[in-house]
Formats: sequence, C-alpha cells, structure tokens
Amino acid sequence: MRSAKSDTRNKIKKGYRQKPAIRLRMPDKEIRKQLTAIYRTLYRAYGPQHWWPGDTPFEVMVGAVLTQNTAWSNVEKAMAKLKRERLLTPSRMFNAAPEKLASLIRPSGYFNVKVKRLRHLLSFIHIRYSGSLKRMFSAEPALLRQQLLEINGIGPETADAILLYAGEKAFFVVDAYTKRIFSRQGLIVSNADYHAVQDFFMNNLPRDTRFYNEYHALIVRVGKEHCKKTKPLCSGCPLSCEQFPVSEVHKADHEQLFHARHCC
Ligand code: SF4
Repeated sequence: MRSAKSDTRNKIKKGYRQKPAIRLRMPDKEIRKQLTAIYRTLYRAYGPQHWWPGDTPFEVMVGAVLTQNTAWSNVEKAMAKLKRERLLTPSRMFNAAPEKLASLIRPSGYFNVKVKRLRHLLSFIHIRYSGSLKRMFSAEPALLRQQLLEINGIGPETADAILLYAGEKAFFVVDAYTKRIFSRQGLIVSNADYHAVQDFFMNNLPRDTRFYNEYHALIVRVGKEHCKKTKPLCSGCPLSCEQFPVSEVHKADHEQLFHARHCC
C-alpha cells in the first residue's frame, strides 16, 4: 500500500501545486482547460456582451465608481443626468460644485460618499497627470494600478475595472459573482481573497485585454441570470452539470479535496 506521503510526492511530480490562498490542488493544465471551457460555454450561450457601457474612457471610469453597491440601472439614471449637464469630462466634472454633482448622481445611491470618491479620483488625475487620461493610461500598468489603489474609495475591483475597461490594460476583474460561481464550480474556495482569485485567473489564462473584458462580462451575465446568492437557478444554467460536465480529473480531485460541484 502506498503511503500518503508518497502520494503527495507523486502529485507534486505530476505538476500538482498547492496554492495556499486558493487551497486548490489541480494540475495547472487541468485548471487552464477548465477555465477555457467555462469561457467557451458562456460565450456560446450568451455571445459578446459589448462591455463596458460608456462612450468614452472617462464615462467608464465614472461608471466604475457609481456602480459600487448598486445596480447598473441606477447608474444609468445618474449617468444620463451627468451627460445632460455635459459634465462627463475630467475638467468639467473637476470644476463642478460638489453639491451639484451630488444631486445629479443621487439615483446611484450613497451619493455623498460617491461624490467624495469621484473628487478624489479627479484630483488624482489632475495632480498626477495634468487632467489627461491619455497620459494617465500611458503610465506603467502595475504602477498605475498601485496609484489607483492609493486613492480613497478606490478598491481593487474598481481599480481593475478602470484599468481593463477604460484603459484597456490586461487586469482580470474579480467581483462577488466571480467568487460565487467559481467556488460553486469547485475551482476556488469561497473565502479566497481578491488578489488570490485574480492571480488564479491571470496565471492560468493568456494576458489578453479583450479576453478578460469578455470573460468578466460573461461571468456577470450568468451570475445575474442564474447564480443567485441564496437560491441559484441551476436548471438551465450553461454551467450546470447536465450542460457542462467536468472532466473526471476535476471531479475526483474536488471530491477528494473539497466538495462536489454545487449543482451535481
Ligand atoms: S450551475 Fe448553479 S451553482 Fe453552478 S454556476 Fe450555474 S447557477 Fe451557479
């Protein structure tokens, strides 16, 4: 009989790797295969999502701040008001009175907090990059990400949404849907932190802006339509066991180490 120690040694030799933050043990090849298969399945089911809604990079940035803790339909109302007032440029918004800005973005909720966040972001653009988004997005991507994260009210999800969708930089955006869906698929643990999940995707997928753009948008689509927080609608979900059977390696690995997929 083989000992547990020699089993572990064999797994390491075969390319199994333990990733502490994710606690996932699968061969890298199998992870890549699963992530690609999920993308293809979602794309086949839903087609291109044309993200992010916004006519200019600045609109995308404003949308990324306004969408914090609210539904996109509320953001749309606020954006329409800002557009009507012709405030959707960095200089005009920077020079607008905070009270006026607050009343315009009221439909997006938490408007007093969001005004402060927008103003922090606008000050950053003006002080560091003389108000030029072109100059800002020419900065070294990792440095710019670090700078964005230093702005009060800009967390990793907002920073990455700005970088990916406004700046076309290849950073994978992680949100609550991403964590929920991929943990229910048995690929990550549900309490993995933002950067561990982001590393998981970015280390196993090609660094490609368009691909990351579409992948995140598809995750949000399936999350909204099927993978609800308390009662997931697995029947008819493109990622359900009937429609998206996982490989035996994946199944065995997860049954042994974690749990079966949520829907199986
Ligand atoms: S099959 Fe169910 S648990 Fe899996 S992603 Fe779809 S809705 Fe979520």
